[in-house]
Amino acid sequence: MGEFELIERYFKRPARQAALGVGDDCALLQATPGTQLAISSDMLVEGRHFLSTVDPFKLGHKALAVNLSDLAACGARPLAFTLALALPRADDAWAAPFAKGLFALADAHGCELIGGDTTQGPLNICITVFGEVPVLNGRSQALLRSGAQAGDDIYLSGTVGDARMALEVFRGTLALPASAFEAARSRMEQPTPRVALGIALRGIASAAIDISDGLLGDLGHILKQSGVGATVEADSAASRVAARAHCSDIAPAQWRDWALAGGDDYELLFCAPVSQREAVTAAAQASQTVVTRIGRIETARGLRLIDASGQLLPNTYGSFDHFA
Ligand code: ADP
Ligand code: MG
Repeated sequence: MGEFELIERYFKRPARQAALGVGDDCALLQATPGTQLAISSDMLVEGRHFLSTVDPFKLGHKALAVNLSDLAACGARPLAFTLALALPRADDAWAAPFAKGLFALADAHGCELIGGDTTQGPLNICITVFGEVPVLNGRSQALLRSGAQAGDDIYLSGTVGDARMALEVFRGTLALPASAFEAARSRMEQPTPRVALGIALRGIASAAIDISDGLLGDLGHILKQSGVGATVEADSAASRVAARAHCSDIAPAQWRDWALAGGDDYELLFCAPVSQREAVTAAAQASQTVVTRIGRIETARGLRLIDASGQLLPNTYGSFDHFA
């Protein structure tokens, strides 16, 4: 199978929303009047972002999920994506399940593959997603990192820390009961992009980010870009680890470490004024997403951590950095 046969067989489908899809030099997208385009790219490199043994179906899901998560964090509705793929060889056994996992998630979000590039090389997957956000009375409805205000609540969607736990099991540095490992592993391999929640939070959240490098590290981006500080209740966050329901003998401090600095979570971390608490609850219900209040934005710069009893905890957490 050659390059063009591979594209034809697995990645070319008739265009639906797009004015022109795969097959020409450019794809064409018709922008909806009164909206802005939201665009984001994420690359997945073998050995760095995924293990070489991962099921290609799950990899197809994850490659798009991490990109949709960025649209979610902006409150954007997904429209389309491109796929730049480097593959060691044109291989049906890999491409068929990869495309299946990719399109299952794409179809669930009405997000269509409109183009890309295919080359021979070490396995590397780069997706660019395109979404749209409305502009109302000249104001973009996009959720940004820069809008948090002192007094705002800080919220977390879903569960965090599991991807890190699963990675440690794969590396041999952690042993878990089978049920806990399954819970953690599915969060690592098949994260759920919180697209419906992000859209529901337009006009409610003051700031948002998706958690890829660790909860506190990513919160740090909101704090920096908003010029504020925060106090986070470490144990509220640590209570939201999916595997926790399956483990009994792990110390509270260990759960905090995984929840606060684990990374690879693809949950939304967002802020909203106290006056919006009911609206946040309604957005969580409408999008069928668990949302947990984990802290408060403050004028005093810096990040303070407290435990369930309000005692200050040392904050020694850093954010993941590829070059650190
Ligand atoms: P060009 O050489 O003009 O860049 P290509 O020969 O690389 O075009 O690609 C042919 C068509 O196939 C283009 O429409 C391109 O967007 C699409 N394409 C290439 N690789 C992929 C892929 N992995 N997934 C989806 N579309 C792809
Ligand atoms: Mg090309």
